[in-house]
Amino acid sequence: MKRTFRIGGVHPNDNKISKNAAIEVFPAVETAYISMAQHLGAPANPVVAVGDKVKVGQVIGEPNGFISGYVHSSVSGTVKAVEPRADIAGNPVMNVVIAVEGDEWCEEIDRSTDIVRECSLTCEEILARIKNCGVVGMGGASFPTHVKLNPPKDKKAVALILNGTECEPYITSDDRIMRERPVEILIGAEIMKKVLGVDKCYVGIEENKPEAIASMSAAAEKFDGIEVVVLKKKYPQGGEKQLIDAIMHRQVPSGALPIDVGAVVQNVATSLAVYEAVQKNKPVIDNSVTVSGHCMASQHNYLVRVGTPISKILEVAGGLPENAAKVVSGGPMMGKAVVNLEAATVKANGSFLIMTAEETVRKRESNCIRCGKCADACPMGLEPYLLNKLARVGGLYDELEKERIFDCIECGCCLYTCPSNIPLLDLIRINKAEVMKIMRSRPKK
Ligand code: SF4
Ligand code: SF4
Repeated sequence: MKRTFRIGGVHPNDNKISKNAAIEVFPAVETAYISMAQHLGAPANPVVAVGDKVKVGQVIGEPNGFISGYVHSSVSGTVKAVEPRADIAGNPVMNVVIAVEGDEWCEEIDRSTDIVRECSLTCEEILARIKNCGVVGMGGASFPTHVKLNPPKDKKAVALILNGTECEPYITSDDRIMRERPVEILIGAEIMKKVLGVDKCYVGIEENKPEAIASMSAAAEKFDGIEVVVLKKKYPQGGEKQLIDAIMHRQVPSGALPIDVGAVVQNVATSLAVYEAVQKNKPVIDNSVTVSGHCMASQHNYLVRVGTPISKILEVAGGLPENAAKVVSGGPMMGKAVVNLEAATVKANGSFLIMTAEETVRKRESNCIRCGKCADACPMGLEPYLLNKLARVGGLYDELEKERIFDCIECGCCLYTCPSNIPLLDLIRINKAEVMKIMRSRPKK
């Protein structure tokens, strides 16, 4: 029987209409806009100035704290500006703007397509390379990978889990890299196993990706201790806690982290980035991005340089059709609306979904009928109708904390399942941020 997580979940149409689009190298842009806030934690400090010449892979931003990361130029050319620019949500973020000239790479990067398996580096050298190459969680979380691979001394990992579930509808960039680059992904996993000191790696893939399952399973035969686990198609299978439950049958307690039950979860795209960093000395300067939507004339998966304007990606993908009403970064369940199409891509952008007005229209809200469907669907065992009710009153942060609002993973299952079309997640999200702020401001015991 295929495995899955025990509590809640929903079954939206997966709409993987771009799954047969092989990854195409996206054409060079004239100007790259490289954000200093591409990772969770403090934005990087720019270390180049207007007029400087830069090469592909050169450091242009340095970490600004323990949870922070390096940022590299994805192009070669001349720095035109170092200035705040609006990101996809319209918020100002420091950018390095580079006028592209040619495509000159730093000499230390191995650009050959030869696959390098052997790694004689020590664990410390591996971690340093991952840090220096600016590797972050490519599944969307953007957490600096060198920090996640170096848990506190009192916590011991027992297994690495590679997340190849890609449970969000429409997105196929992970599916494509698993089909096209399975060996490199698994070398990345082998390297991470060594750093974590674990013998076992599980690769979780949902059953709706038979080609990826076949290619990763064939590649895994040449590796010790790597097992492909076929999972049921159920959203949000890719949530860290859900994946650990499905694969290791361990439950991460409320408020705890995966490492507390011995698991470290990394996305398959992060594993590929680890391979490129450690074996090729290649920083994160590009990533695979799905461009999809029923209204689009064609579906695409591109290898896009970081800092490419979203408007350029949409133009190359065939242009926005007349009936396009919304561009979403991510998928329809957890994605965020792009309010500024002139914003540029960052390392963890895996998908842009183009939707029509009919696809995005919010149905009329009616009263809660206390059916309990939202609670049944919640994969975190929360009571979304209650959280929503408390949130509507306003200021009831103690009560919301007691009801574990901080455990909400913002998956949208409650919203998806509510027959009264109550926008449950909107208020939960805002109040969760407030409760988290209050919790973090308390002195540590
Ligand atoms: S968004 Fe939060 S409350 Fe709603 S189902 Fe997901 S985890 Fe539960
Ligand atoms: S699913 Fe909607 S209508 Fe049903 S209990 Fe939850 S909030 Fe109320």
